[in-house]
Amino acid sequence: MAKGRVSIVVERCKACGFCVEFCPSHVLALSSAFNSKGYHPPHVVHPEKCSGCDLCGMYCPDFAICATKVDPAKSKADPAKEGDK
Ligand code: SF4
Ligand code: SF4
Repeated sequence: MAKGRVSIVVERCKACGFCVEFCPSHVLALSSAFNSKGYHPPHVVHPEKCSGCDLCGMYCPDFAICATKVDPAKSKADPAKEGDK
């Protein structure tokens, strides 16, 4: 079960790839899709591996990505609440 959740602000991304390179769990990959500036933003390819360490957020020079820790007990108890945060 995932212990972290990644949020990506696609339009801020300049596709430097730091988040992909520095993620210790290989959660991310650059997408084949473009944002409006013509860059390929990252997307989550292995959500179950994310620890919520937020290294991706710390390395991103454009504040385009961040991660939060998820409480597994809470998300299991009421998965419908996940979208409310
Ligand atoms: S929070 Fe950590 S494990 Fe999750 S995607 Fe970011 S760098 Fe990878
Ligand atoms: S580190 Fe930031 S700007 Fe670079 S690819 Fe990742 S989200 Fe995009």
